[in-house]
Amino acid sequence: MAKSKITVIGSINMDLVTSTSRIPKVGETLLGDSFHTIPGGKGANQAVAAARLGAEVTMIGAVGDDSFGETVVNNLTSHGINTEDIIRIKDCSTGIASITVSDRDNSIIVVPGANDHITLDIIEQNEDKIKNSDILLLQLEIPLESVIRAVQLAKKHNTLTILNPAPIRKLPMELLEMVDYLTPNEHEQTLLFGSTGGTEKEVEMLKEKCIVTKGSKGVMLYHNGDCLEIPSIQVEAVDTTGAGDSFNGALAFSLCAGTKIEDGCRFANVVGAISVTKLGAQTGMPSIKEVDEFLQ
Ligand code: ATP
Repeated sequence: MAKSKITVIGSINMDLVTSTSRIPKVGETLLGDSFHTIPGGKGANQAVAAARLGAEVTMIGAVGDDSFGETVVNNLTSHGINTEDIIRIKDCSTGIASITVSDRDNSIIVVPGANDHITLDIIEQNEDKIKNSDILLLQLEIPLESVIRAVQLAKKHNTLTILNPAPIRKLPMELLEMVDYLTPNEHEQTLLFGSTGGTEKEVEMLKEKCIVTKGSKGVMLYHNGDCLEIPSIQVEAVDTTGAGDSFNGALAFSLCAGTKIEDGCRFANVVGAISVTKLGAQTGMPSIKEVDEFLQ
């Protein structure tokens, strides 16, 4: 069987994770317990999720000309992802998330860095990649105008689009009308439906393409005027970071094999569940062999 072709256009980050006994007060210096650098970014995570399952994945994005840039691109390559169209931006940092974690709280600063440099030109230079893909998978960690242009090109070439609207922001109706599937979590769904200012007809149109992920409560799929609830798979959750990314990568993988949307959601629900049984976002993402073994 020919491999399914997925293009992901999105963020590539390095997560800088510090563990401390507590979050420092303003002006205070604390000794931390540990520090780790972990490749992340929703775009990169979703690309890894699909590649781990066996899809042929191309990542389009941007990193800085720093050492993090090299590490995060090498990480994607190590998962078999085509990284030749990732741009290196001169005098710019790779996107980072500086995360401080204590037992009780966490605090996060995200610096988009190179992710903010994914311009319309970069999208247009990759029109052929979009055209030759079965699925285009996007999130909202890059400039919105570039997301819109990518979806326009996908529409022009009949490439199926999945938009994971995270982090949520106000989205133009033009974009919402064009995408094939939207995959908000419960929180994003509430904001999405509330923020469009659309007519009743437009909100109905929006619902029809929504697949709402509900964490340990599973998935809700609006389809053909109906609402299908898919309960979650019962697992012992160890770390839910990146569950949404695993779900999106798996949904893209499943849909490009021609699977019906209900079955695609059921498959992604299983992959999302397996991913929470292990520590880390990308490290928790299962291979297709692990999914098959889990289902036996
Ligand atoms: P994140 O931002 O942490 O990546 P998210 O909020 O985008 O996550 P969720 O809705 O929490 O996404 O989870 C995505 C999917 O993963 C769920 O719809 C479900 O299929 C699976 N999942 C998440 N948490 C659990 C859990 N505790 N048990 C079983 N399945 C889970």
